Amino acid sequence: MPAQSRSALFQKLPSTDELLQNPDLRALAARDAHTSVADAIRAVLARLRQEIANDRLDEKSLDIALANLPTAIERQLRQSLSYSLRPVINATGVILHTNLGRAPLSTAALDHIRQTALGYSNLEFNLETGERGQRDIHIDRLFQKLFEDHVGTTAPGYPAQQSANPVATGVFPVQADDSSGRSGISTIVVNNNAAAVLLSLNSLAEGGEVIVSRGELVEIGGSFRIPDVMSKSQAALREVGTTNRTRLADYERAITDRTRLLLRVHRSNFAITGFTEQPTLAELAALARRRNLPLVEDLGSGALFDLRSIGIAAESSVFDSLRAGVDLVTYSGDKLLGGPQAGLITGRGDLVARLRSNSLFRALRVDKLTYAALEITLLAYVKGDHASIPILRMMHVSKDEIVTRAQALISQVGSAANSRNLKLELKDGESVIGGGAAPTAVLPTCLIALTHAGLSADQLCARLRRSDPPIIARVEEGRVLLDLRTVFPAQEAKLASELASLSEN
Ligand SMILES: *Cc1c(COP(=O)(O)O)cnc(C)c1O
Repeated sequence: MPAQSRSALFQKLPSTDELLQNPDLRALAARDAHTSVADAIRAVLARLRQEIANDRLDEKSLDIALANLPTAIERQLRQSLSYSLRPVINATGVILHTNLGRAPLSTAALDHIRQTALGYSNLEFNLETGERGQRDIHIDRLFQKLFEDHVGTTAPGYPAQQSANPVATGVFPVQADDSSGRSGISTIVVNNNAAAVLLSLNSLAEGGEVIVSRGELVEIGGSFRIPDVMSKSQAALREVGTTNRTRLADYERAITDRTRLLLRVHRSNFAITGFTEQPTLAELAALARRRNLPLVEDLGSGALFDLRSIGIAAESSVFDSLRAGVDLVTYSGDKLLGGPQAGLITGRGDLVARLRSNSLFRALRVDKLTYAALEITLLAYVKGDHASIPILRMMHVSKDEIVTRAQALISQVGSAANSRNLKLELKDGESVIGGGAAPTAVLPTCLIALTHAGLSADQLCARLRRSDPPIIARVEEGRVLLDLRTVFPAQEAKLASELASLSEN
């Protein structure tokens, strides 16, 4: 288009001030913030200018667009004032999906958060003495109880608790120190597991060396790389062994007077198979004790239940690590534990005390909402009420139950749909635990495979994402796959009606 006629089109665009005088838009400005309306006007006008500049509008189509301006501005305004963070339906079958917010919380957790958040709480206030208290005790007491139930007092490095003498603040002892100078088990909470690793390394190894196997120098994703965290903690990384084989003697040889601790890292999302070797945790713990060094383990997912109960042998629990003699375990709150985003550090009381007195701890601590959600989650473990934790419930659902639900969904879609654009078939598959659990941690499931006469798998996926709430599926071999394991039963009717509407056009 000649520059002249383009500039004629530009001149037809009204100014922001002119538009603000439009009666429809004035009504909007009276209701919503004036500046938001002005922003929406500017955004819509900018889009039109761009279209003109790219020769995508002629005079006639510009006139139509101008006639529709108030509607376009109102839509823009609604979009900019709506929530950006929205609930979605997770039909991927990945239970701990980091991009979808990992562990969903129970309604009981939400109630406790609500009670705690709506008013004041005893977050750091001792109700017995009327003095300042510690926020850690809310979690610490519960973990101590779990430790007694699952590990007992037989683990090396954890002398007996004074559990027969519960202090007045609660059912469980708050903190027990024994006379040997080593104290019992203690837990503190920070913002996430990355922070937990950083705090542990910085508190125990600043200026010294940390020995890690080359097979464990992993990147977890989202830019968490062990060597980077190590350098931020001001500790020097001392790599030992090779990618596939590291022996106890490799650790032993690397120990010098600069060594501050031995670190074991869960490999999370990848596996080394074939010609491999790695000392057991118990062997490492014995070496650490012999050389008077702490053994710290970044366990990542941190299960508080036995995954063998759902047929997964590859993931050990926090208790397994403590039983093996690990001095400090770090793990996430929102992975296999099934709670809110947090990083937990559990282990020898004297080491935890050093972490607590580090000023970094103050910078990484969590708020009352996280404590409320974490407290109710740990309480569920104490009570053995695993079914109240949503991700544990999802993991325990049998394949047969998923088949039944999938069949019911298909017949619901079938009876609502008029035409047969959409084909739904059942297919065997696997749900994925995710969240840094071993890549082999999968559960048998039944998938609904979708194919659409007029849409490619990617287009179909995009259509599902545009529904309200958005439906997130996975694409494999040209088909869209839905796994009901991660769909809440209450969301199934919505899922069925979306599929029925896709079937019709
Ligand atoms: C997930 C994971 C982390 C990071 O935990 P966040 O809670 O996401 O910060 C660190 N280490 C391991 C081994 C992990 O699996």
